[in-house]
Amino acid sequence: MKHFLIGLGMAGLAAGIAAPVQAQQTFITIGTGGVTGVYYAAGGAICRLMNKERKSHKLRCSVESTGGSAFNVNAIKAGDLDFGMAQSDVQYSATKGVGAFKDGGAHGDLRAVFSIHPEPFTVLARKEAGITKFEDFKGKRFNVGNPGSGTRSSMEELLGAMGWKLSDFALASELKADEHGPALCDNKIDGFYYGVGHPSANIQDPTTACGAKLISLTGPVVDKLVAEKPYYAKASIPGGLYANNPNATQTYGVLATLVASSKVPDDSVYALVKSVFDNFDEFKKLHPAFANLDPAKMVKDGLSAPLHPGAAKFYKEKGWLK
Ligand code: GLU
Repeated sequence: MKHFLIGLGMAGLAAGIAAPVQAQQTFITIGTGGVTGVYYAAGGAICRLMNKERKSHKLRCSVESTGGSAFNVNAIKAGDLDFGMAQSDVQYSATKGVGAFKDGGAHGDLRAVFSIHPEPFTVLARKEAGITKFEDFKGKRFNVGNPGSGTRSSMEELLGAMGWKLSDFALASELKADEHGPALCDNKIDGFYYGVGHPSANIQDPTTACGAKLISLTGPVVDKLVAEKPYYAKASIPGGLYANNPNATQTYGVLATLVASSKVPDDSVYALVKSVFDNFDEFKKLHPAFANLDPAKMVKDGLSAPLHPGAAKFYKEKGWLK
């Protein structure tokens, strides 16, 4: 948003009339997450395709590593970011002003662009910690995620539904996603929780380096959350995707989405979605978590904020939207 170039068209100046102010953007920035997560790769993939088409739209796209979903949505609200990655539950809560966004009220300027990969809530335990189910973490050292992450707000919704408090852990650490793997292998924590696409470098490292175990998140509390909340769905992490974890892990999760401010000009959003969907085979190859994406689903699943008009225009041209 800081990069808007506001100016009168030359024709308007020459004619000396009060032409409407045209906002023409030259730079756009996408807020992502930690550099070892998938948001950073998703932002990088979008910008790479956008920058390739720069001659046609004159925009330069760059990514910023951030604390995650809630930070991105708040930075869009403050006018510090144009676009950001956000979990579908965070998009929903921010749009409606509920849950973690209750105090700030509904974020009326938040607009949906598209959804991307599924993000199963992923629980990892230290091999020696004797954990077989999430409840075993009671009284242990557990990383609940940094404030500003979507991970953290989803964790709090789960703990609330379970009737747990942060004080039920011996230590509820707030490490960032880039730090939780090394902390686990160094025996500083017994486990962590992370909403992320798969495969993720962030899960690959501790499963390979110290045999960390994926723990299922199932049971009546999860069933109730999935039944009640529109943004949750059951999910499974395939066996063998990560070293030392041959069996599938059952859990639940959300979708990663791209959101923007309503103040971003339609042309900018149109240029972004056109760059991604006109080069979709290339996009899918830029991260293994994108391999099975389907544009027809991306333009509607997991989106609860109003679609940005610049995105809607392109989807209508494609016939993906009525
Ligand atoms: N879903 C995570 C969050 O908002 C970020 C995941 C990622 O960076 O890939 O906390």
